[in-house]
Amino acid sequence: MGDITENFSRKEFSCRCGCGKQDIDERLVNRLQLVRDIVGIPIKVNSGCRCISHNTKSGGASESYHLLGLASDWCLEGEDGDSLLEKLCTKLINNWSGGFHFYPEKTLPNGIIQHPFCHCDIGRRRRW
Ligand SMILES: [Zn+2]
Ligand SMILES: [Zn+2]
Repeated sequence: MGDITENFSRKEFSCRCGCGKQDIDERLVNRLQLVRDIVGIPIKVNSGCRCISHNTKSGGASESYHLLGLASDWCLEGEDGDSLLEKLCTKLINNWSGGFHFYPEKTLPNGIIQHPFCHCDIGRRRRW
C-alpha cells in the first residue's frame, strides 16, 4: 500500500544519492498507477527525482525532467519482467502524452548487463 497511490510511495521516487530530495509530482505517480493497474505486476522505480549532482553523475540531460520531479525511469519486476516491459512499451510509446523512451537491454563497459527500462515524464510530448 503506497502513500501516494495504491501501489506507490513517495520514498520510491526519492533521489538515489541519499540527499533526501523527494518532490515527485503526484500527477506523474497517478499516471504510473494507471499503467500499474493495466499490467497487474509491480513496477520497479529505478529513478525518480534527482538533485543536480546526482543527475550529472547519472548522465542525465542538464534540463532533465528528473530535476523537477516530473520524470521516472522504471522496469517491471519478475522473471518475465523484461519481455513484458518491451511489449508494454510498444503501446505506451504511442499513448503516453509526455516524454517517453524505451531503453533496450545493453552491456555496460564493465560487462554488467543493464536490464531494459523506460523513461517517462509529464513534460511536453517527445520521443527520441
Ligand atoms: Zn540527491
Ligand atoms: Zn529518465
